[in-house]
Amino acid sequence: MILATHAVAGAAVANLLPGHPVLGFVAGFVSHFFLDAIPHWHYALLSSRHDHNDPMNSDIILNKDFPLDLFKMGCDAILGIGLAVLFFHVSTPYFLSATLLGAVGGIFPDALQFVYFKWRHEPLVSLQRFHHWIHAKESLDQYPVFGPFAQVVFGLLCVLIVR
Ligand SMILES: [Zn+2]
Repeated sequence: MILATHAVAGAAVANLLPGHPVLGFVAGFVSHFFLDAIPHWHYALLSSRHDHNDPMNSDIILNKDFPLDLFKMGCDAILGIGLAVLFFHVSTPYFLSATLLGAVGGIFPDALQFVYFKWRHEPLVSLQRFHHWIHAKESLDQYPVFGPFAQVVFGLLCVLIVR
């Protein structure tokens, strides 16, 4: 799913354990894989190279398209963290809040995926294998309107259930 959805869902599960920011981070991290297991839409990343024969060989190439992709992913992540803070009204100091750590935890597996692309060592290899294994094999990429809409609805559901 997009990082914004992961951040909001991560913050939502972390808010089930409001006084425990570290557990909130772990809960957000774990939630990432449950979300990825649901068929979903992705935005295009021009620097991404998906190897259909061996997904463990997939990569993000640091070419001329990468800065724009990084900008897209950065906006996506910041939007998600901003929405998480907005929806869950952080009252504790930011760096201690379950909301913030849950949101960051929700995004973190995709950041680790990027680290794996550039540094293929354990435990990142096993994590990448798991990430790919649990990731839905069918996607909603062919639905450019319904796909993003479904993620907005999903994020709102997470907020409504927890708040
Ligand atoms: Zn993922």
